[in-house]
Amino acid sequence: MDDRPASLPTPRTIAARALGGGRPSPTALTPVIDMSATYTRDADNGYSSGPVYGRKDNASVQQAERQLAELEHAREALLFGSGMAAATAVFAALPPTHIVAPKAMYWGLRVWLERFGSVFHEISFVDMSRLDAIRAAIRPGRTGLVWIETPSNPLWTLTDIMAVSDIAHRAGALVCADSTVATPVLTKPLDLGADIVMHSATKYLNGHSDVVAGALATADPSGLWLRIKEMRDQNGAVPGAFDAWLLMRGLRTLDLRVREQSRSAALIAERLAGHPVIAGVLYPGLPTHPDHAVAARQMPDGFGGMLSVRVRGGGAAAVAVAARVQLWRRATSFGGIESLVEHRASIEGEGSSCPEDLLRLSVGLEDPGDLYRDLAQSLDLLA
Ligand SMILES: *Cc1c(COP(=O)(O)O)cnc(C)c1O
Repeated sequence: MDDRPASLPTPRTIAARALGGGRPSPTALTPVIDMSATYTRDADNGYSSGPVYGRKDNASVQQAERQLAELEHAREALLFGSGMAAATAVFAALPPTHIVAPKAMYWGLRVWLERFGSVFHEISFVDMSRLDAIRAAIRPGRTGLVWIETPSNPLWTLTDIMAVSDIAHRAGALVCADSTVATPVLTKPLDLGADIVMHSATKYLNGHSDVVAGALATADPSGLWLRIKEMRDQNGAVPGAFDAWLLMRGLRTLDLRVREQSRSAALIAERLAGHPVIAGVLYPGLPTHPDHAVAARQMPDGFGGMLSVRVRGGGAAAVAVAARVQLWRRATSFGGIESLVEHRASIEGEGSSCPEDLLRLSVGLEDPGDLYRDLAQSLDLLA
């Protein structure tokens, strides 16, 4: 140690402080990444600029939240470390109550509700395509939440958000809509009366299959929302700054991607419907789909990039078709640039109600003609 003045630190100290930290260029065209886990106090011991600690104050996370809030016509949005973290935050923040949830819903959340959600809440699982079934399940004054998922995984059944919100609100219940498949491009649940919209941002919102994240958004940031926000900040179920930055990048092209994926999925669904080895095509855009009328009203700009097919010959035939495709990738998840095929019953495992002969298709951004021909060559081998 030498005796230089405190105002002249050594190069080692200057380097260790990264030149004092500091701000990136305020004129940068693209968003910057706020990697800081903590923020400095003012000399007067205050935090006049706002942020204190990374778990709840990260600027990149907040910037992505504002971007998503715009897209959903929301007042506030919250990002989470995964879609499951976002969904379960709603149930965990809700004081014990009766909940109405769909029979057909994302498998992972259904299992969580049965194993963990039911410790706090009483849950009725109903057919969310049938308004009379929902009316019968709701207990006025006692049901606190109606959870919906539309279109639902993997049969793509629709729930009429406006009608269900009306029924729920009359009974004093809130409505939360898992809109992962529709995205704000095709459906805006808050505009239709839902209180909270939920997303697995892992899917379309990010859209590049390289981030696991989730989100909630609301038009009324009061009541339950405040508990959810407080719980998220304390539990720390937040994404990292780089993931938030990647999500921001993904959201910039969400509208274009989803419209194109919807167009391609519609073309592929129509052509597959005529294939002799296909026993049924499940796509809300087809007039043969049982919920087509609701879909046409609720998704006026497209029916989404997801469809399922049922293959003649059962589970073994479905797995054989998936084994022979060249362009489609065999993987779970969806909403990315690469088209994916999945034998859904295999991943859901024991207790799954998914038909064995069903293949779930996530249509990406490749040429739809190439995608159809690839499926057709694989299906032809069964004919
Ligand atoms: C994937 C998915 C989830 C769960 O999201 P993760 O990001 O995987 O945790 C919830 N709901 C739906 C409809 C999904 O597709």
